[in-house]
Amino acid sequence: MSDRPGSGADVIWAAGSPGLGAPADTEWEMVIGLEVHAELLTRSKLFSGSPNAFGGEPNTNIDPVCMGLPGTLPVLNRHAVELAIRVGLSLGSLVQPSVFARKNYFYPDMPKDYQISQYDRPINVGGSLELPTGKVIGIVRAHLEEDTGKTTHMGGAGRIDDAAYSLVDYNRAGVPLLEIVSYPDLRSPAEAREYVTELRSTLLAVGASDGKMEEGSLRVDANVSVRPVGAGEFGTRCEIKNVNSLRSLGRALEYEARRQIRMLSVGEPVTQQTRHWNEDTGRTSALRTKEEATDYRYFPEPDLVPLDPDPAWVERIRAELPLLPRERRHRLAGLIGEDPARVSLVTERGQDDLALAAIEAGAAPAAVLKHLEQNLADGSGELTADGLAELIGMEARGELTSNQVKDVLAEMVRTGESPATVARRAGFEAVAAGELAAVVDRIIAEHPEEWRRLCAGDGRERKKMQGFFTGQVMRATKGQANGRDVAALLADRAGS
Ligand code: ADP
Ligand code: MG
Repeated sequence: MSDRPGSGADVIWAAGSPGLGAPADTEWEMVIGLEVHAELLTRSKLFSGSPNAFGGEPNTNIDPVCMGLPGTLPVLNRHAVELAIRVGLSLGSLVQPSVFARKNYFYPDMPKDYQISQYDRPINVGGSLELPTGKVIGIVRAHLEEDTGKTTHMGGAGRIDDAAYSLVDYNRAGVPLLEIVSYPDLRSPAEAREYVTELRSTLLAVGASDGKMEEGSLRVDANVSVRPVGAGEFGTRCEIKNVNSLRSLGRALEYEARRQIRMLSVGEPVTQQTRHWNEDTGRTSALRTKEEATDYRYFPEPDLVPLDPDPAWVERIRAELPLLPRERRHRLAGLIGEDPARVSLVTERGQDDLALAAIEAGAAPAAVLKHLEQNLADGSGELTADGLAELIGMEARGELTSNQVKDVLAEMVRTGESPATVARRAGFEAVAAGELAAVVDRIIAEHPEEWRRLCAGDGRERKKMQGFFTGQVMRATKGQANGRDVAALLADRAGS
């Protein structure tokens, strides 16, 4: 599988300036592993009853448990566990008995002074995610944990360093999170973006998350290192935080890789750090040297029993899983004899069922793909598969011009009517062949000088006059002539 697309080094830089370390002509490869945090789509929090909802007034969706008040006890949310299992099964993970652990740290965004997470016994271990290119990215684990509150640093540039004071909103504290950790199998910013896109589609497909990066329900920590092409070992990585969109993910990885290459090529080692991405400056800056697991003093959460899902329940969840994006891609690609990557746009938009049904109704696959990709980017609305197939037939028979096809399609999306009904109402009756020939002949007769120029002209002149005659015919037929038919008639009359 070494020649599959997307594998190997996609982004390679020569190291610009000569230095003391690697030779100046060293070519570098990026190595990327992502930790994706997905907020799970439950009604209530992971261990308590207050709402899991975005956008409320600060500190309104709270309760004694998520505020860590003395004497409270966590109660595990069964639906959060089910969603975590759905994701695990979709990634081909082993769903295993797991243990919650306390991860201790002292930030004001966590009133208990610890976060309940999973450590050495996560609920999902192993697995993989296949990208549209066919490349398979390994999954280390996908574990359950609670989200923290959100701090806002005031009176400075938004960083704690220069803030006058900080505000904290606990609405998010205790919201269920699934942290999905990839192996360092990604080799370029583009591939990292593909991975997040595919993972997001999978989370959406199984109903585990709303995947809204702009609302923070999907957050990415990006680990990146560089190494000389051909090196067997990985370099030292940095972890980038605060990446809030796919676009920033790509930019942050580019910037960080270049920074590391610059250092290594002058003989300076990269130190393992957690770095903050600044969207405005387009740079990363050091937040802290990387914590070790011992810094968090993990220990098993004494207030929760180990989580041991009934295997019959897990099998029921497996049986109820919908078709995954990868499966949908392969299904559509198989039917039309295309590469899965070629149809991924359609499956990402969820329009593959429509495509399959239209093809089954007899429409040419290439035309179906074309319309879905070019004309249905905003959704297919009320459009039916039979309607789409019929429209494609009318287009192929030249009964509608390409502009008319677009107009008719837009109306079908709105109303769900058949193309014949819409075309008739719009007055888009194609001009009958005989009638069109008569119009063309009349216009040639009315413009003898232009016609002579068309027949005698060189390529450019000829083209210009063809445009003139087509325009006249279109005007005479109120735009209802088929452009291809007009061109054919003109060519026929000119004897070419
Ligand atoms: P930690 O527990 O310290 O966060 P992990 O081993 O869990 O460390 O790795 C975290 C992430 O870093 C994973 O997504 C992994 O793929 C990625 N990673 C590990 N080593 C490297 C490396 N040398 N370069 C880039 N990414 C790496
Ligand atoms: Mg980590």
